[in-house]
Amino acid sequence: MVINVKNVGITGHIRPDGDCVGSCMALYNYIISNYEDICVDVYLEDVGEEFNFITNIDKVKKEPLDKIYDVFVVLDCSDLDRIAPFRKCYDNAKSTVCVDHHISNLNYADKNIVKPDASSCAQVLFGLLDESKINKAVAECIYIGIIHDTGVFKYSSTSKETMEIAGKMMEHGIDFTSIIDNSFYMRTYAQTKILGKAIGNSKLLCDDKIIASYIDFEHMEECGVNNKQLGGVVEQLRLTNCVEVAAFIYQVNIDEYKVSLRSKSIVDVSTIAMKFGGGGHIRAAGFNMKGTKESIFETLVEEIAKQL
Ligand code: 5GP
Ligand code: MN
Repeated sequence: MVINVKNVGITGHIRPDGDCVGSCMALYNYIISNYEDICVDVYLEDVGEEFNFITNIDKVKKEPLDKIYDVFVVLDCSDLDRIAPFRKCYDNAKSTVCVDHHISNLNYADKNIVKPDASSCAQVLFGLLDESKINKAVAECIYIGIIHDTGVFKYSSTSKETMEIAGKMMEHGIDFTSIIDNSFYMRTYAQTKILGKAIGNSKLLCDDKIIASYIDFEHMEECGVNNKQLGGVVEQLRLTNCVEVAAFIYQVNIDEYKVSLRSKSIVDVSTIAMKFGGGGHIRAAGFNMKGTKESIFETLVEEIAKQL
């Protein structure tokens, strides 16, 4: 246990999503607004433009500093492999803390606060903060984390507590309609086009219980998007009425795809993801897999069918 903390480092997982960015920036803004003696750095890989409005987002560092942190905090990250560019800061730190809500969390830090039932990492973080020290900037970030990981309060991980925390954040006068529209639902025209492509490529498998689709490099090039701009595609597939599972894969290397799985009520996709070296939640999980589209879909159908 380090007392007299002077230097704090913060990071989240690679390809940061709304919960990751929201949680990291909530903690950053909380510390700098309440503890002026503490020097704090926040590290994240490229953050999407939809988060540009967050207070102090311009302070995010993309390269690790040669600093020895008294405490290094990792948020929304189940597995140390997923803090890749900032691993050095973690390894050199005097003590480490992990705040997370992934059921697949490996409890890798010195202190792990992991609540798999929580809607979001932001919700877990809220439980650790002194409510009287939360200002509007922090409230905005916590709200962002919650709406992104609950799909705006609709996933089964949303609880009464989630809604109560969101309500408290609203009391800080945050512009929640604009936060929801601009950070969650908004997409570029290129993203609209690639979504159309993914929907067009989709197929029903396994007696229509699985909807599967893919995006290859050629599709990304054609639409002018990169693989960081495909968030939201799998959720659109999941909305198809007959299916239990949506499986979306996108190319990350010549012979490798990123797999995104979502389920509605029966299939535990986190166990499938963990089997292949990934992780996530019961209803939303992911991993990387080598092979062709055909071989990957074949494996996925086999694994999903075991649970249906
Ligand atoms: P997505 O399908 O949106 O990429 O991810 C869904 C969930 O699974 C997220 O909570 C994410 O953190 C987790 N996840 C996705 N890919 C991986 C992975 O490669 N490894 C681990 N450990 N978790 C992943
Ligand atoms: Mn999360």
